[in-house]
Amino acid sequence: KFNTNVGQHILKNPGVSDAIVEKAFLKPTDTVLEVGPGTGNLTVRILERAKKCICVELDPRMAAEVVKRVQGTPEQRKLEVLLGDVIKTELPQFDVCISNTPYQISSPLVFKLLAMPNPPRTSVLMFQREFALRLTARPGDALYCRLSVNAQFWAKITHIMKVGKNNFRPPPQVESSVVRIEPKLGKDRPNISWDEWDGLLRVCFVRKNKTLRASWLGTKEVLAMVERNYRTWCAMNGVAVDDSLVEDSPDDVEVDDADAGGDEDGNGMDVDDDDTPAFFKEMASTEVAKTKSKRKKTKVAELVREKIRKVLEDVTELADKRAGKCDENDFLRLLFAFNEEGIHFS
Ligand code: SAM
Repeated sequence: KFNTNVGQHILKNPGVSDAIVEKAFLKPTDTVLEVGPGTGNLTVRILERAKKCICVELDPRMAAEVVKRVQGTPEQRKLEVLLGDVIKTELPQFDVCISNTPYQISSPLVFKLLAMPNPPRTSVLMFQREFALRLTARPGDALYCRLSVNAQFWAKITHIMKVGKNNFRPPPQVESSVVRIEPKLGKDRPNISWDEWDGLLRVCFVRKNKTLRASWLGTKEVLAMVERNYRTWCAMNGVAVDDSLVEDSPDDVEVDDADAGGDEDGNGMDVDDDDTPAFFKEMASTEVAKTKSKRKKTKVAELVREKIRKVLEDVTELADKRAGKCDENDFLRLLFAFNEEGIHFS
């Protein structure tokens, strides 16, 4: 009777439910958001310790279950259930988020929580083991990816415990882990635009095992995107753009992917990172068509290419480094250097 298509794997081990709620260090004054209460195994424990629990549940049958479970108890008035998809729901203010997360929404949920203007103090979330390891991966680790950099930029993330698949009914196909996410707040919160940071990382991690030179200068879609953003910046800052053609430009001026820097393991595009391929497909459909039909390079395109080269080779000296080995500080230096050249990503 459980719908595993929407991640319905109920926690059947009370010890695990206890541990998850304990690790959130709830205060009696806290309002908690629980994503996907299911039959309410975590909910009842949250209600014992917090002032209020707001649940968001997609499945009306489950929403009814959890309401029924607390009916007639003193905790009943502390429970509020919102029916719907948490990703599409406008969330009220809350102090702590707890969830045995439906795995399909792991990535959007993390980013929804971190992007909130007033993010929760703590989130204790169950994820598929590999996703949890990506969240906590460090530069050089096999699982280090855009998600790792992004999440650790905005929050402190701790792996709390492993949970075997037999603790669930029905058991999922993969092992799980619980992580704690504590967003950097106040003066610790980076004073950087969310979109700028993520836009930069998207390009760096197009191919995490290739050099940054290859990712930035060897991909037509990236060059087209940077040029478009640079044009927007010029328009906003009253800078003239030189659209004339470069005289002695050969017919096909773009560096082809295959020639642009080595790939350690010979793999193509990394498909490990949530939505990167779709993002570039979108860009490619509009921008590459234009680039191709033009054939000859414009002066502005040449200028943009030179700016990127300068940032990578002269200013940051990161051209030969691979995104998979770069740390937060490397990415910050890149972002500042690009911004300095009038190149933005949002
Ligand atoms: N909390 C319960 C437990 O630990 O026993 C159930 C957890 S079960 C892994 C995930 C729950 O999330 C299911 O009840 C499912 O219906 C619900 N769900 C799935 N997708 C959702 C979404 N997009 N928004 C809100 N709830 C969702």
